[in-house]
Amino acid sequence: MQVPLLDINRQHAGIEEELKQVFAKALSSSRFIKGPDMEALEAEFAEYSGTKEAIGCASGTDALILALQATGLKRDELVITVPFTFFATAGAIVRAGGTPVFIDILPDTFNMDPDLLSEWLNNNCAITNRGVIHRKSGRRVAAIIPVHIFGQIANMDAINGVASTWELPVVEDAAQAVGAKWRDSRAGSLGTVGCFSFFPSKNLGALGDGGMLTTDNPELAKRLRSIREHGGQGYLHAEVGTNSRLDAIQAGFLRVKLRRLEEWHKGRRANAERYKEAFTGVDQVRTPVIDPRAWSIYNQYTLLAESRDELLGFLRSRQIGCAVYYPLPLHLQECFRDLGYSQGDFKVSEDCSGKVISLPVFGELTKEEQDEVIAAVKEFYQR
Ligand SMILES: *Cc1c(COP(=O)(O)O)cnc(C)c1O
Repeated sequence: MQVPLLDINRQHAGIEEELKQVFAKALSSSRFIKGPDMEALEAEFAEYSGTKEAIGCASGTDALILALQATGLKRDELVITVPFTFFATAGAIVRAGGTPVFIDILPDTFNMDPDLLSEWLNNNCAITNRGVIHRKSGRRVAAIIPVHIFGQIANMDAINGVASTWELPVVEDAAQAVGAKWRDSRAGSLGTVGCFSFFPSKNLGALGDGGMLTTDNPELAKRLRSIREHGGQGYLHAEVGTNSRLDAIQAGFLRVKLRRLEEWHKGRRANAERYKEAFTGVDQVRTPVIDPRAWSIYNQYTLLAESRDELLGFLRSRQIGCAVYYPLPLHLQECFRDLGYSQGDFKVSEDCSGKVISLPVFGELTKEEQDEVIAAVKEFYQR
């Protein structure tokens, strides 16, 4: 039996008529960019995330770039993040004019290690009247970006604690974590500003690119709204922004989906629970470790697996969808060679990159399909 890693058609089948109505409405309204549907989505997304403001933009990557500019990043300043994430986290730092500084992850949750964050700041930085300065380079540290990887929120108690000691803004990369919770707070409400992606394969996906920012700070929201449209008020420009808006039609599609999101999360979480039970006793795989304070939406279901590459090949030969997120940590990417990192600098990220494998977890996965995946993994290790 063929089992897809993700089948968006199944999700769309149940809402096809509503999606078609969105298209018809957009076509007849001739409002293609922003418009009433985007404003409604912003209000609904803010309410869902528990923030005062939500600001639509063109992608998750743009959300990060806009957030960094709005929180004050200037050219050649430093931004702290993790090497074990999708490329866009660090790519956005560079596109916004900054330089990434990497902090390793925890081996259990795959999220930023707050102790290492604190240690790096203590060992390398000082608070001056120019802000937090990296002593060796003289450069200012502008922000911290924790990534809520695979749908689990990073330890925001500890990260916010460090950030407030150093008075640094926290930009949440919540691209994989719409709706995920830390205690009772949703992703995007835990830092200074939250960044979301509506890339089609994300847990809340548009039918194209799209992104969102969240914040409780009205001044920041105002600045983000300005920066997404060239930084102007009318035709007067106090700063240089960009063109990064959300299409009306995508906002309409997303409104239809947001209404179902909690229901879809139940499906993902139930599938994750079934895998966990099924793999207890399979010593060669470690199922996801979720912090008791976190409520994961399992944007990916990621195992640490022995003989990962062989398992990957075996599952693929059985036509079972699986993937490696992410095979090469960012500090070892060719484009970041100038940063001066080398193999061995972030052992946990490097180790995880060699062992992770993600299995199908989408809500519409059938029981039969999941049984097939489970049986294939078990068969592989019993051979
Ligand atoms: C998808 C993703 C992004 C980028 O989002 P796009 O909408 O594709 O630009 C950024 N960070 C992480 C962790 C992601 O998974």
